[in-house]
Amino acid sequence: MSNEAFFDDTEIWKQTCEELKKLISPDAYSRWFMPLCLLEFESGRAVLGIKNSIYQYWIEENYIGTLEGAFETVIGSHVKIEFRTITSDGTAAIPDEKTKALKAKKTRSRKSTTRKYADSIDLIPRYMFDTFVVGTNNEFAHAASVAVAKSPARTYNPLFIHGSVGLGKTHLMHAIGHHILKDNPSTKVVYVTSEQFTNEFVSAIQHGELANFRKRFRMADVLLIDDVQFFAGKERSQEEFFHTFNALFDGNKQIILTSDCPPSDVTKLENRLVSRFEWGLTAELQPPDIETRLAILKSKAAKLNIVLSDSVLLFIAERVKANIRRLEGALNRVAAWAALNDRKIKQEQVEELLKDFIQEEARNVITVDGIQRKVAENFDLRLSDMSSKRRPNNIAIPRMVAMYLSRKMTSKSLQDIGEAFGGRDHGTVLHAVKTIEARISSDANLRQQVHMVTQQIESGS
Ligand code: ADP
Ligand code: MG
Repeated sequence: MSNEAFFDDTEIWKQTCEELKKLISPDAYSRWFMPLCLLEFESGRAVLGIKNSIYQYWIEENYIGTLEGAFETVIGSHVKIEFRTITSDGTAAIPDEKTKALKAKKTRSRKSTTRKYADSIDLIPRYMFDTFVVGTNNEFAHAASVAVAKSPARTYNPLFIHGSVGLGKTHLMHAIGHHILKDNPSTKVVYVTSEQFTNEFVSAIQHGELANFRKRFRMADVLLIDDVQFFAGKERSQEEFFHTFNALFDGNKQIILTSDCPPSDVTKLENRLVSRFEWGLTAELQPPDIETRLAILKSKAAKLNIVLSDSVLLFIAERVKANIRRLEGALNRVAAWAALNDRKIKQEQVEELLKDFIQEEARNVITVDGIQRKVAENFDLRLSDMSSKRRPNNIAIPRMVAMYLSRKMTSKSLQDIGEAFGGRDHGTVLHAVKTIEARISSDANLRQQVHMVTQQIESGS
């Protein structure tokens, strides 16, 4: 479909919505897209009007690719999407007829501007230093990043940031890029994941464009390579990257790398790359402690412009621990609920809303061994009683409780659980599960005790 077919933004938005409806559920469409309007559209950029920032957050987290795709189908080229909060009457932000006509004209000549976008780098706008909450878990990596951002290629080169998923590696890396560009807008900052590097490399070979590929990377002043663990086993890409690295390093350009583990632990990474990566500074991101989690939640809630009680925030911070992306996801869900229901959310509702988050967390950390310890502690037994052959009731029942909980709270098989309880067979574990299920439905005391232990295990206390 050609651009000429459109005369104003209304038509573009209408068509985009039609595309969207084909791609997402009617419920999601009416909840997240129906309330939006297109405020501006020019130079490959669409500004959407939203009632509050929850919409932006939710759409960016869940539908941004879909929305871009829908625009692209209608317009025929990539569209960069931005959001703007509009006042409740909404009128102030809607352009008058004259500006609309002007824009319609620009729309028609849009093709010439799209290349600029394709070439520009994709740094996520909200990944800035001032949206990064500093805690003891990340203060070293943060300080190193700030130092590099302030004087690229003159402090730590390369800077290697590692840590498990969702702990802020990409955020810090983009923050460095933003900072450098703000100080000096003409700096050539190039950001890719190692996967993109590999794909572009392969495609460059296929199309005989290796010279262009090399130029693109070797002309960078600052090269950001995200998730280098994906170079694992890709020998030719590693070889190519090795030369890119050397060229930039020798030219005194800044290189920043991230990975889910330290350089030496990336499997199938050539030694010469490992040693290059260790030349500069290696900084680790640890999982955030409770204070940092709470601070992150508070900062995000303020940005979303939502008010949640301290006890609700604490509830979330206590339960979602291992991954900041998940922590944000949990907050988003609560925020979306609050925005749609227009009333204060209570703890029980939060609990219900976040059930799957809480279960997911629990699955990550709960072990049979941990359960045995907790049960032994609560029923006043020794840990060794869990695997002993002794059968008096005061031991046999708690032992069965521990087997029952191991079955419910971990993904271990009956066989594995039996093994952990002194080499018992899977039939014994199954029998224990059934016995305890029957008992807790009739014995209020036991039910209470099991409930208490369960809670302690879930909260990791
Ligand atoms: P990684 O690259 O390590 O998997 P990301 O950088 O993508 O993690 O971070 C995941 C999410 O958590 C992002 O939305 C990011 O903004 C957020 N985040 C991570 N660390 C922090 C922090 N210290 N303060 C605020 N937000 C953070
Ligand atoms: Mg990342």
